[in-house]
Amino acid sequence: MAKIKGLACKECGREYPVEPIHVCEFCFGPLEVIYDYEEIKKSISREKIEKGPKSLWRYIDLLPVENPTVGLSAGFTPLIKAENLGKELGLKNLYIKDDSVNHPTLSFKDRVVAVALSKAKEFGFDTAACASTGNLANSVSALAASSGMKCYVFIPANLETNKIIGSLVFDPVVVAVDGNYDDVNRLSSEIANEFGWAFVNINVRPYYSEGSKTLAFEVAEQLGWKSPDAVVAPLASGSLYTKIWKGFNELKEVGLIENNPPRMYGAQALGCSPIYQAFKEGRDWIKPVKPDTIAKSIAIGNPADGPYAVKVAKESNGDMEVASNEEIIEGIKLLAKTEGIFTETAGGTTIAVLKKFAEKGVFNPDEIVVAYITGNGYKTMEVLEGHLKSPIHIKPSLQEFKEKVIGQTVKG
Ligand SMILES: *Cc1c(COP(=O)(O)O)cnc(C)c1O
Ligand SMILES: [Zn+2]
Repeated sequence: MAKIKGLACKECGREYPVEPIHVCEFCFGPLEVIYDYEEIKKSISREKIEKGPKSLWRYIDLLPVENPTVGLSAGFTPLIKAENLGKELGLKNLYIKDDSVNHPTLSFKDRVVAVALSKAKEFGFDTAACASTGNLANSVSALAASSGMKCYVFIPANLETNKIIGSLVFDPVVVAVDGNYDDVNRLSSEIANEFGWAFVNINVRPYYSEGSKTLAFEVAEQLGWKSPDAVVAPLASGSLYTKIWKGFNELKEVGLIENNPPRMYGAQALGCSPIYQAFKEGRDWIKPVKPDTIAKSIAIGNPADGPYAVKVAKESNGDMEVASNEEIIEGIKLLAKTEGIFTETAGGTTIAVLKKFAEKGVFNPDEIVVAYITGNGYKTMEVLEGHLKSPIHIKPSLQEFKEKVIGQTVKG
């Protein structure tokens, strides 16, 4: 496997072979995939990528998979020039990377699961599993179904109805655990040790997390092969955020972009902000919290990649901010009203934080700023109840229409 050197511990650097393992035996640090960039440089090119499949697999030279078999249509989502929202925020070059329309389950998780389960198949696993805040369970359930794998997904019992139905429809075993995500994750780690399953975000996590780099690769290609000046992305475990950074750095390393990687701005919900708190207090360790927020998809109280996300914010000259429940809902409505995109609570958090940073003046008005919209609003509709206007109710009569609708909506 020429492009991959192996796995290495992020803490002590000890090296491991390419196997379904995720922690260092010596220091318990997380393992990460290490590439041979000199080797990759010889074969990778913009032209080769542009001729590749219209999916995240066009970047296979920088992914830890030899033979993709799962999630063949994941990725390749639109990058939208957000003129209206940009005007509102005083930004001339604002873009939305819209993973709310990812295939097949409408969140960025389709990227990481495509990579994780393709790798799991290479390893010979026949059962897929995950510990999830909702979107991951949807994606693992769908992609296990389409690739003929058995499937167990573990979720907190209090998830949004549509996220539960969005897993059940694919007919996996859905285990709803009494507890929060961190309880689900702890239980899942114990199960992963005992059963020979591919837990995408536990024992195959080093491969899973690499899928998030494609959020950087696609944006760079869509901008005409350059890095934006700044990006805003949500933080749950911190994995996505750190891998967007790794992705831009890799593109520079192999010569596909010339400018520097972006400043990385991170978004957390006020009711679950352990990474933000560590960053603001100058800590490189995470104080776990008990989540209490409507942004359930990013409610991880003990985030595995938190310390690395703090490092990325510092190294990239970025920053972090939080959004309250009210601000998250306003964020959802603002993106919908200005750009016609319906995102879920995680996206509402990102837009709320984008707005705060824009108001603080951290972006130059001409800079290229990309906001990552990672999930779809049709999955978390209940949070908007009581926050939207009601339909105008009429009898099927032209006169009622004129009185009640025209009378109320046409002004002046
Ligand atoms: C899982 C998720 C994230 C963030 O995931 P990380 O654990 O930080 O990689 C962001 N947005 C949505 C919608 C998600 O489902
Ligand atoms: Zn180690």
